[in-house]
Amino acid sequence: MKKRIAVLPGDGIGEEVMSQALRVLEAIEDRFGHEFEKVHGLVGGAAFDRYGSHMPNETLDQAYNSDAILFGSVGGPVADMNLPKWKNCEANSILNLRKTFKFNANFRPVKIFPELQDISPLKAEVIQKGVDMVFVRELLGDCYFGEHKQFTENGKRFGTDQIIYDEDQVSSIAHVAFKASRNRRKKVTSVDKANVLDSSKLWRTVVTEVSKDYPDVQLEHMLVDNCAMQIIRDPSQFDVVVTTNMFGDILSDAAAVLPGSLGLLASASLNKDGFGLYEPPGGSAQDIAGTGTANPVAQILSVAMMLRYSFALEEEAAAIEQAVSAALSSGCRTRDIFTKSTSSESPTKLVNCEEMTDEVLSYLKRPALV
Ligand code: NAD
Repeated sequence: MKKRIAVLPGDGIGEEVMSQALRVLEAIEDRFGHEFEKVHGLVGGAAFDRYGSHMPNETLDQAYNSDAILFGSVGGPVADMNLPKWKNCEANSILNLRKTFKFNANFRPVKIFPELQDISPLKAEVIQKGVDMVFVRELLGDCYFGEHKQFTENGKRFGTDQIIYDEDQVSSIAHVAFKASRNRRKKVTSVDKANVLDSSKLWRTVVTEVSKDYPDVQLEHMLVDNCAMQIIRDPSQFDVVVTTNMFGDILSDAAAVLPGSLGLLASASLNKDGFGLYEPPGGSAQDIAGTGTANPVAQILSVAMMLRYSFALEEEAAAIEQAVSAALSSGCRTRDIFTKSTSSESPTKLVNCEEMTDEVLSYLKRPALV
């Protein structure tokens, strides 16, 4: 297969983890005989330095002319956020890309690696039931796109934000979730606040209608407050969770804590034509940028998601995921996931960003072992 990929590493640890993820992509090309043209572009503060814009037209053109976007992270030192280089950096780049390409579905898998139980905030007995779910968040509706207003009436200040969904937006994301569940455990949990909000009542009605097309998939509805509790109390009950833009924003970040580090998760944003952007959900991690200690796993797993969702290369995606699991099983740990092992049978070893990737590659290049 021949494909062109826009590679946008961004700022902070973006460049460090991206260069490691590309080594993994190259190993996939070698092993499976694919050809991926990588077109590198600047975004975020890195782009501002050169073009005076966080999302220059040059980069947008590269993205337009590609089959998928592999994104790192953007954003500068938090203390300097008012410098022009960093002001609105995230909004101007990542939100700009979401709007430009009309990404309406965000996929965020959350899994606790059995090898990393000790760094999860959950109790062992909760983890042992198996935590492996995917959040499907609607990205183009809700209060993020309704009218925002502040006004003063009778000397008192007010602020309002309009939540708005139309039935097509809901049915579109519901189809995405049901289809995704067919490749998993065939269960969809739709999360809303239908006991209070009319937008949620419409959401629930439309999701129920769409479910008739998927009789093999189990659908349950859950109120968002209950879901927030259940994610912590018993996450094993979830397979695919489909929800609105704002509820998805909050719930998926809460769930992101469960594996123990932001460096372990990948995410995908897709539009209705199947065009996608793949990125770690974490930011540019300025506190560790340049130290070589960042965890490359999130960016490597973003490559796996790209192969699966954009190019339908399931075997290749699974090979990467298995190689990552094997590397973790071997005891390799970057600083964010390192704990000293108490067992002599499974010792842990502190490694840097490059060494972690070396370990993943050592399994990827030995298919018989994966
Ligand atoms: P962050 O996600 O960058 O970091 C939070 C914590 O997680 C830090 O301690 C960091 O070291 C750690 N971390 C994140 N990724 C890691 C990895 N791969 N390996 C090891 N540790 C990792 O959040 P922040 O510090 O609040 O934000 C820094 C900058 O990133 C800000 O400018 C923010 O606006 C931006 N940001 C960008 C994105 C994006 O590009 N999509 C997302 C979130 C934040």
